[in-house]
Amino acid sequence: MENKKELRNWLDAFGLDHPLVIAGPCSAETEEQVLKIAHQLKDTDATVLRAGIWKPRTRPGNFEGVGALGLKWLQKAKEETGMLTTTEVANPHHVELALKHDVDILWIGARTTVSPFIIQEIADALKGTDKPVLIKNPVNPDLALWLGAVERMYTADIKNLGVIHRGFSSYEKSKYRNNPEWQIAIELQNKFPDLPLILDPSHIAGRRDIIFDLCQTALDLNFDGLMVETHWDPDNAWSDAKQQITPETLVQIMKDLKIRKEVS
Ligand code: PEP
Ligand code: MN
Repeated sequence: MENKKELRNWLDAFGLDHPLVIAGPCSAETEEQVLKIAHQLKDTDATVLRAGIWKPRTRPGNFEGVGALGLKWLQKAKEETGMLTTTEVANPHHVELALKHDVDILWIGARTTVSPFIIQEIADALKGTDKPVLIKNPVNPDLALWLGAVERMYTADIKNLGVIHRGFSSYEKSKYRNNPEWQIAIELQNKFPDLPLILDPSHIAGRRDIIFDLCQTALDLNFDGLMVETHWDPDNAWSDAKQQITPETLVQIMKDLKIRKEVS
């Protein structure tokens, strides 16, 4: 990982480990749910708590997030547990609110990365910030769109950047919700070797049973971190119920990943 200078810099600046482990629910649902999962995660390898509060759903009529109210819950979770926080921002208004409420890391979702206009607006809203920003790949397997989003952020002098590989949608059915197409992430890594590359196995898998294998593959490919959807009652989650794992499962996965790494 020696060549990952930039990652080390912002990981070090934030006092974080390598690989970076981000965990937490797909969506913030209630204050109680956010605080409970944060307390369950605080003594695990996860150092950053994720929770979506603005949820871009593909079809209308589903839970679209609690909105700005959730920012207070994230702040409280940080105060009580010391975990850093991250949430998805999808427009400049989200950026403004997230910065105001001291969210530590922002991420840009797959449905936002497809739109150069909105990416540019977000980059302009963040111009010159030290705040770490993680850019998910676009929903479609288009490396240029992903690169374009990274370039727009760099051009806006956003220094602490990273990318998240969450797989690519395809009309054809497969065992994955979103196909990994690892070569696209590897090409991006080759183009920007200093850019931290984080795996989101949850949205690739769409199910629980292959999360571990995806994490192992990513670590074998020299990824720098994992973002894993984690819920204390996955079956009853308000979004992405099938793919979320419990904190106990996350702990087990992290243990097994280390054992496998030591053996190999
Ligand atoms: C999420 O992280 O819950 C999410 C909506 O992800 P994506 O943008 O990868 O679909
Ligand atoms: Mn999700």
